Amino acid sequence: NCYDSVVARIAVIGGDGIGPEVVEAGIRVLEVAVRPEPSLELEFERFPWGCEYYLEQGRMMPKDALETLSGFDALYLGAVGWPSVPDHVSLWGLLLPIRRGFDQYVNLRPVRLLRGVQSPLAEPGKLDLVVVRENTEGEYSDAGGRLHRGTPHEIAVQETVFTRRGVERIVRYAYEEAKKRRGLLTGATKSNGISITMPFFDEIFREVGEEFPEVEASLMHADALAARLVLAPEAFDVVVGSNLLGDILSEITAAACGAIGIAPSANLNPTGEHPSLFEPIHGSAPDIAGKGVANPSGAIWAASLMLEHLGHEAAAARVLVALEETLAEGVKTRDLGGEAGTEEFTDEVVRRLLP
Ligand code: ATP
Repeated sequence: NCYDSVVARIAVIGGDGIGPEVVEAGIRVLEVAVRPEPSLELEFERFPWGCEYYLEQGRMMPKDALETLSGFDALYLGAVGWPSVPDHVSLWGLLLPIRRGFDQYVNLRPVRLLRGVQSPLAEPGKLDLVVVRENTEGEYSDAGGRLHRGTPHEIAVQETVFTRRGVERIVRYAYEEAKKRRGLLTGATKSNGISITMPFFDEIFREVGEEFPEVEASLMHADALAARLVLAPEAFDVVVGSNLLGDILSEITAAACGAIGIAPSANLNPTGEHPSLFEPIHGSAPDIAGKGVANPSGAIWAASLMLEHLGHEAAAARVLVALEETLAEGVKTRDLGGEAGTEEFTDEVVRRLLP
């Protein structure tokens, strides 16, 4: 019966710097957002992993972390990284093992200029797109090496690896996403210069497109696409790219959204076999950590993506509306030119969600 409650279990890794501050804000918003739905219950479990843990234990998270996390319905992450710990330690010690271990092959980066936020590049209503980045293969392979080290003839080679399965599944995800949105898909390619892997990507992009006659799809060279995203972002709906091209294009579009503290990111395992991870795109911001001034918008938006992924579209939409209304009415943190602290800003979002 409809009063049977579904419990969604969420593993929370606040991480470093402002990470814990912004995820706690997100949790407050989530708890209020699901109140009108008695059938949905959220249960949070916090894990104190990250750089502080590394400095004490010599690893970013315990050995059996993936096993522990695999029992959860979703993972909610703040930020990982700290100046006293090399970047590759924090990345390879936590984020990458989770991404790979749980086969989170889609990196989804929604980009929308929210009302009330100033952007150097776009006008309100003219920037509303999603970047779908391949998250497991491509340019970020370990295949390669260096020869003739230290000599004038030194060579460094790193292979790009595209598999048919890997390209097909990311491209298909992007077509599905376009079908749910405005029906427009742009594939980022570089097949004018990269003559083996990129044409392979293009070929599969076109093949999969035959299954989606309702989607208007085209391929664009990534350099020209980067320029168009800056000059005419309103022309785009869903953009799909390889690991490297998707990474760069999603940073360009996120920057066009006004501030680094607003944009969210989802690392998805769309099969549902493993948990997916949701996080704001910003880092641990050591310069403002512990001061209570971090902008929690990216974490709150990521929380909305998490609700959507868990199948609670209505609650997800309510969170985004409350966030946008808060900003539109002029409540802003310092990074956006306002004076609100993290808590005050979150109070305002929560207030708009109360019945
Ligand atoms: P990483 O390499 O981990 O992404 P980074 O140093 O490149 O880290 P951030 O940690 O995101 O980037 O910080 C970049 C700048 O943006 C800093 O000045 C930081 O204070 C600011 N910043 C980042 N996130 C926020 C936020 N949520 N609210 C306010 N300012 C932020």
